[in-house]
Amino acid sequence: MRDSYDCIVIGGGPAGSTAAALIAQQGVSTLLVERDKMPRFHVGESLMPETYWTFQRLGVLDKMRNSQFVKKYSVQFISGSGKESQPFYFSEHDPRDCSQTWQVERAGFDQMLFENAAEQGAECHDQTRVSDVLFDGQRATGVRLRQADGQEQEIQCRVVIDGSGQHSLIAHRLGLRQPIPALRKAAVWGYFRGAERLPDEHGGATLILHTNTRKAWFWYIPLSDDITSVGVVSDVEYLLKDRGAPADVYCEELGNCPALQRRVAEAKMEGELHVAKEFSYTTRQHAGDGWVLIGDAFGFIDPIYSSGVFLALKSGELAADAVVEGLRNNRLTGAQLGNWTEEFKQGVHWIHRLVTAFYTDNFSFGMFMKEHPHHQGNLTDLLIGRVFHPEAGEMFTDMDPYLRQSAAKTGMSASG
Ligand SMILES: Cc1cc2nc3c(=O)[nH]c(=O)nc-3n(C[C@H](O)[C@H](O)[C@H](O)COP(=O)(O)OP(=O)(O)OC[C@H]3O[C@@H](n4cnc5c(N)ncnc54)[C@H](O)[C@@H]3O)c2cc1C
Repeated sequence: MRDSYDCIVIGGGPAGSTAAALIAQQGVSTLLVERDKMPRFHVGESLMPETYWTFQRLGVLDKMRNSQFVKKYSVQFISGSGKESQPFYFSEHDPRDCSQTWQVERAGFDQMLFENAAEQGAECHDQTRVSDVLFDGQRATGVRLRQADGQEQEIQCRVVIDGSGQHSLIAHRLGLRQPIPALRKAAVWGYFRGAERLPDEHGGATLILHTNTRKAWFWYIPLSDDITSVGVVSDVEYLLKDRGAPADVYCEELGNCPALQRRVAEAKMEGELHVAKEFSYTTRQHAGDGWVLIGDAFGFIDPIYSSGVFLALKSGELAADAVVEGLRNNRLTGAQLGNWTEEFKQGVHWIHRLVTAFYTDNFSFGMFMKEHPHHQGNLTDLLIGRVFHPEAGEMFTDMDPYLRQSAAKTGMSASG
């Protein structure tokens, strides 16, 4: 490792590897460091179709097409009573190649993006942990890191990109993290072999199933090799407080979801259950002199619509452009490095609104769509990830009164 680089990227997840690849591609000296040994396990397996455009820019579309990853064409919602919504087939809305996406094992997927960053010219090291970001006053000037052999080193750079995920190194150091109280959720998930899979295109769908108490929901994500990722999400207190071991909670909630029980009846669980909690937060500043946040280090909303990896890729891409431009013009202020964040936040806002609608008691997307069928396209667009255009939030003008009414019935806030 050298003593200095133009750019150091912390974290070899989708956000960090994307930023590092696109910056190195421009001939900028770039160091990408990942704490864990790659490939490493990670949650977040279902992609949104709009990831397509970043894959195209990264030059990995063919790798995705030739991979073993299950093809995802649709999403379907199943109510607590077992009533199934019409599947949202992305290609019915837009019959182009970009409407199909994938369900990915994150270890292999992240490894592929990490290797791609190296192919594009970034110097990539795993098992290398950044212990601190170095500042000169307000300006980030480099990082202190510990290599696999335990050796500590300080490395200077002109820009630090923080893609450290939920660890959000810079946001923690500068006290920028802001939890989203309405989304204090927890998740317990595991992997089944041999769960039900339809033979047609819908077999690759993500299913979102409410339990019959409506207090929790499950994701059902079909992966390759006959494995299905099945996770339950609910409020932290409800899911984890005074309920015993995660395995007991998981089984109990499975019992509350007959539509899911039926699908896993012949399946066998493999490996351990995993638990995550309080993963939703924003940051109140996203860039400063010599630094910028991307991916989960920037913020994370909720797993319900599988938007995390898409937003990680997108923010990695937008930040990369801002960094390259800043380096060219020798202007590495927070304003320059974060010049994309307002538009990005507007797009994230629409996903956040959709998340809030999902969690609003007494509100039903089905009922709303029956009365406003012309919004079907807008809703499918949001599920695809098309949130970065002026009409993205059109449907909320009509949906807001329903959300307010539903929220008033239960006394909860419908703002997002
Ligand atoms: C329960 C749950 C379910 C989810 N399901 C989905 C889903 O179905 N689809 C979806 O798109 N998203 C999903 N997500 C979100 C998704 O996991 C994240 O949004 C995504 O991984 C963010 O990518 P990232 O690159 O920002 O961060 P990460 O993927 O977390 O990568 C960050 C990397 O930084 C490394 N790192 C951390 N600290 C340091 C350090 N000090 N030095 C060096 N390296 C460091 C970490 O080891 C890690 O590899 C889910 C999230 C949760 C909590």
